[in-house]
Amino acid sequence: MKPDQLLKPAPAGLYCPAGDFYIDPVRPVARALITHGHSDHARAGHGAVLATRETLDIMAIRYGEDFCGTMQAAAFGERIDLGGVTVSLHPAGHVLGSAQIAVEKDGLRIVASGDYKRGADPTCAPYEPVPCDVFITEATFGLPVFHHPDPKAEMGKLLTSLRQFPERSHLVGAYSLGKSQRVLRLLRDCGYDAPIYIHGSLARLCDYYVSRGIDLGDLRPATTEKSSPADFRGAVVVGPPSAFADRWARRFNEPLIAFASGWMMVRQRAKQGGVELPLVISDHCDWPELTETIRDLAPQEVWVTHGREEALVRWCELSGVPARPLHLVGYEDEGD
Ligand SMILES: [Zn+2]
Repeated sequence: MKPDQLLKPAPAGLYCPAGDFYIDPVRPVARALITHGHSDHARAGHGAVLATRETLDIMAIRYGEDFCGTMQAAAFGERIDLGGVTVSLHPAGHVLGSAQIAVEKDGLRIVASGDYKRGADPTCAPYEPVPCDVFITEATFGLPVFHHPDPKAEMGKLLTSLRQFPERSHLVGAYSLGKSQRVLRLLRDCGYDAPIYIHGSLARLCDYYVSRGIDLGDLRPATTEKSSPADFRGAVVVGPPSAFADRWARRFNEPLIAFASGWMMVRQRAKQGGVELPLVISDHCDWPELTETIRDLAPQEVWVTHGREEALVRWCELSGVPARPLHLVGYEDEGD
């Protein structure tokens, strides 16, 4: 069997004809396998959905309990037969519940990694290399200039700023699934034990992380209606970046805007967004992690799904690994 008989790009996403399922389809399909809960990968309206317990729970929190027809939770490593095709999920280290999906038939194994990272993150299970014939990788930060620094050192910049400007409310922009919980956990791991205020839109996902054993410390609602700006003097407030553009943010005391994102590597992006304190914290692989992963796995072939495909495809070819871009559309990661 040739690899593209087992999995092939289709308008709705990666499709497996033998098992009649899609991976992370961008439009409603009869059977979907979902890698993780970010909205560009996990959409509502499918017939049957197979994912980790956490991803199913996260989808229910975001879309309501009836987000699909039927659901099946798979444990990491569990082998499941779908029409003669064996599928299994393996940790991707991206956000809570995130999985790579291995698809096997007749001795051929393809691994679709979804979004993944190799760096330490106590809010999710660490990435596990899965030997395969074809490795499908994203390339969000697929250029040699992307090099993510130590996240604890980035968090140190926030703690330094809090000491320098004890009067100012430090507003930290972080996307609601994954990044915000990681920022909260990182602050705790850096010894920050004061209450942290969170925007209302983060509450349910933070509660869910806590229910899965990820301690985020003393979290309190950042409700500006019932309190005065003085209440948040010198405090850390975490919210989705979209909230910082509206009235909610202007009520804080001399707000200092920080933003935790891999994109903060790009100075221009921080400037345009009015970010005073850029924190380079990413839930994706940087260039060294992408190339290290391909070296570690040594697959027969690499397929690149989305991001900066061309540079990574070129690197693979120069390294003697056949590679091709899949040009999938509809994946613009919300989480970084
Ligand atoms: Zn993602």
